[in-house]
Amino acid sequence: MKIGIMGGTFDPIHYGHLLAAEEARINLGIERLIFVPTGDPPYKRGNNITPAEDRYAMTLLATAGVIEYSVSRIEIDRKEPTHTVDTLREFLASGIKTEDLYFITGLDAMLSITSWFEYEKIPDLCTLVTARRPGYPVDEIETLPKFIRDKLKYIEIPQFAISSTEIRERSRLGKGIRFLVPHLVEIYIESNKLYKI
Ligand code: ATP
Ligand code: MG
Repeated sequence: MKIGIMGGTFDPIHYGHLLAAEEARINLGIERLIFVPTGDPPYKRGNNITPAEDRYAMTLLATAGVIEYSVSRIEIDRKEPTHTVDTLREFLASGIKTEDLYFITGLDAMLSITSWFEYEKIPDLCTLVTARRPGYPVDEIETLPKFIRDKLKYIEIPQFAISSTEIRERSRLGKGIRFLVPHLVEIYIESNKLYKI
């Protein structure tokens, strides 16, 4: 069974994430998609990231009821700093085969892969999938090392020019975020006053 992993800070999860993940799923015939919110940074609440439990709750709300989707606590529950390479290794250790494991990112994230911890090991663990993201030129894929490109599948998706940063900013300014995030995520943000300060 083909398994797709979509990692992210998801602060908050928005329709750009869901669209990229779903398009990857359909394009590659992935049967199960696992969203993996990152854990809290080890240093004190670095970069003002929202607590992992809130980001996890929003990811659950965004994906609830979609039969192919689930959310993993693997990075949230890990005590040490979390790295993609460790997460992939844990999924493989749970019995998933390398040829069935797909790691999905947007283009911005993939273009930074050479800065990730032990990134050289990643192409041996899974197939990489990257979705086009507004603002990031596709031809920059050519700048990635060949051994990465050999394991990389690029997919065109409908372009949705939204980021979590922009949603946090809109929320802080009291601008609407309706239709940018799933309805239950919007309600969660508002009732917990997440991005007010
Ligand atoms: P932030 O602005 O806080 O960095 P973000 O919107 O970039 O948030 P992340 O949690 O950083 O969201 O991203 C998780 C993954 O989702 C990354 O692989 C990123 O490339 C991808 N992604 C995020 N937004 C989009 C989008 N609008 N279209 C395609 N991919 C996206
Ligand atoms: Mg980002």
